[in-house]
Order: sequence, then structure tokens, then C-alpha cells
Amino acid sequence: MARIELNNIAHSYLHNPKSEADYALKRIHYEWEDGGAYALLGPSGCGKTTLLNIISGLLIPSEGKVLFDGREMTQLPPEKRNIAQVFQFPVLYDTMSVFDNLAFPLRNRRVPAKEVTRRVQEVAEILELTPFLKYKAAGMTADAKQKISLGRGLVRSDVAAILFDEPLTVIDPHLKWLLRRKLKEIHDQLKLTLIYVTHDQVEAMTFAEKVMVMYEGELVQIGTPQELFETPQHKFVGYFIGSPGMNFLNCTLDGNVARVDGAGIRLADETAALGAKAKGKLELGIRPMYLEVQTRKTEGAVPAQVRLVEDQGAYKIITLEMAGAILRAKLGEDKPVPEKEAWLGFPREKIRLFADERLIR
Ligand code: ADP
Ligand code: MG
Repeated sequence: MARIELNNIAHSYLHNPKSEADYALKRIHYEWEDGGAYALLGPSGCGKTTLLNIISGLLIPSEGKVLFDGREMTQLPPEKRNIAQVFQFPVLYDTMSVFDNLAFPLRNRRVPAKEVTRRVQEVAEILELTPFLKYKAAGMTADAKQKISLGRGLVRSDVAAILFDEPLTVIDPHLKWLLRRKLKEIHDQLKLTLIYVTHDQVEAMTFAEKVMVMYEGELVQIGTPQELFETPQHKFVGYFIGSPGMNFLNCTLDGNVARVDGAGIRLADETAALGAKAKGKLELGIRPMYLEVQTRKTEGAVPAQVRLVEDQGAYKIITLEMAGAILRAKLGEDKPVPEKEAWLGFPREKIRLFADERLIR
């Protein structure tokens, strides 16, 4: 396993990139610790596959350096990098047996036959493929094919890292959950450096110790699931993490009060002080679960109209209109739901201020 370092990487698929917008990766500077489990999370088109391909060597970046344990790899082809990569759709030899497919990466590296058998059996056992080892890959279901593909990624014990590019996309939801747990177990046992790409926040949050959120070719935040939830560094993280995402309100500052249209929301002193120094378009952010929905007026609460109540079982999602803006609140099933009029409380310690989309710090 290795420590992977991307040193000021930028990549454009164009020959003659002119502006920022021509770059699929804008500037990535980061070090993946040896043995860490990372999830790379972001919407389609944000540059996740581009980033993985630069690490594995399928792509040479336009700018910057790739280092493994301090050694430069930037120009080296994939076979010289010792990386296993599992793609979104299974890559298999259809005419070979399941066993031979799993054995392929090992035989390719002239691993002794006995060791090949041992490793293949071990991985087949983990992925519940043992009964199928003799079957031809062609006849297997889509799920099983992707399991074989995962197995091919896991079978070598000498790799610097394993990169998974949305490997569970074609797998049914129940098996998805099982496989994700399996991968986590495998990581805990073998301490492999794992980078797992997904556009699914639940998948990212349950799998990884650290989640890296990507947006438009940038890593906008790297943190624990808790950090991403409590202190999103960028509006995109607030919106993308959590369901529903964070509420944002355009505001101006008036001492310790944030003015949202006609309404006033009292801020903590530190928050107001940060806001006073910031430049750019100011927005107040609050998570739906922290918004206090009250049926009666209380000190400091802001009047709002209930627009929609959605019952999700353990909680309700309330859509409200407040000072011309739409907000969502998440309400536990034990809480009273206002019918038309509501009063919203904004707990001071849960309010975040953003200037030009970035958290003010
Ligand atoms: P993701 O994996 O997050 O969906 P990609 O890394 O595949 O994103 O793509 C990032 C951006 O680069 C997108 O705008 C995509 O259209 C562009 N892109 C990806 N691959 C190529 C390619 N081979 N040639 C040109 N543009 C590409
Ligand atoms: Mg992709």
C-alpha cells in the first residue's frame, strides 16, 4: 500500500485550454494516507473518473505531479503503478470461467499456481462466488458479474491502492448494502488504501472515514460525515449532503441580526462578527433538522406559512414560506405540526453564514 500524493494537478481534455471552464480538474492538491478509506463524492460530470484515471495512470494530467510514497509516477503507464481499478461496469473475459477471471490479475504477474488458487478461493468466499467458480462468466447475472469485477480488484495483495469507480451502480439495492459492508470489512482487515467513487451520499457516508466532496473539478471539502453535515465549507456541500439539503436565505447584516427581507434572525456574537468582515453575497444557512417549527409565537421566532407536509414515517418534511423564501424543516414524529401558520426558531449555534457560496471562517 502507498501514500498517494497529487501535487497541483489540473487537467483539461482540450489541446488549448483558455479559461477555468476548459478544465475538467481545476486544481487538486492532496495526499491520501496509506491505508485510509476514502469516498470521493460528487454529481455526474464533476471530474471523479478523471481524478481516478490520473491516479491509476490511464490519463496523464495536463499539469502537476502524481507521487506514490514520494516517488514520481506522473508519466508511468498503469501497469507500472501497481494500482487495482474497478470500473462502473464489469470488465470481464466472458469466455473464461469465474475462477480464471479472478486468477487473471495474479497469473498476469506470474504468481505461483498454489498462491493463485489460495487467493482466488479467499476472495470468492468473501464475495460469495465459491459455488460459481467453474461457471463461464458469460452466463452470470449482472450482479454476479460486478462481484467478479470487484474480486479482480481485490485479489492482488501487493497493490498500492484500489480505486473503485461507482462499482455498485448496476447492483440491486439489497446486495449493494451487503457488498458495501463487505468492502468496509475487507478494508478493516487488510488496511488497503481505498478510494471509492460514488454520487450517492449514503454510500459515501457509510463506507468512508473521510469523504471528499467534488464540485465542478474542485475538491470543495474533505472531512468526516459529521464535519460535512455540521460545517459545510461550500454551499454545494450544504446542499448535496443531508436530505433535504441545507436551507439558504439571502440576508444582510444589521449588528447581531440577519435581515431576511422583512424578518430578523438573531445571530450568535461570533457569527455576526465573522459576517461583518466578509465580502460578497451573504447567505444564512441552516439544516432542516435544526429549524424549530412552532405552532405558537415565541420570542425571536419568525412567522411562516406551511405549504406542504410530507410524512416520511419516522419524521415529517415541512415546506414553509418565510419572508418570500422557501424553507424545509425536518420534524420528529412526536412534534406537533402547524396547519397553516407557523413560527420558526433559528438556534444560534446552528446558523452558518456564507459569502459568495463559501462558509465564512
Ligand atoms: P464524473 O466521473 O464525475 O462523472 P468525469 O471525470 O467523467 O466526471 O468528467 C469530468 C468532465 O470532463 C465532464 O465535463 C466530461 O464531459 C469531461 N470528459 C470526461 N472524459 C472526457 C473525454 N475523454 N474527452 C473530453 N471530455 C471528457
Ligand atoms: Mg465517472
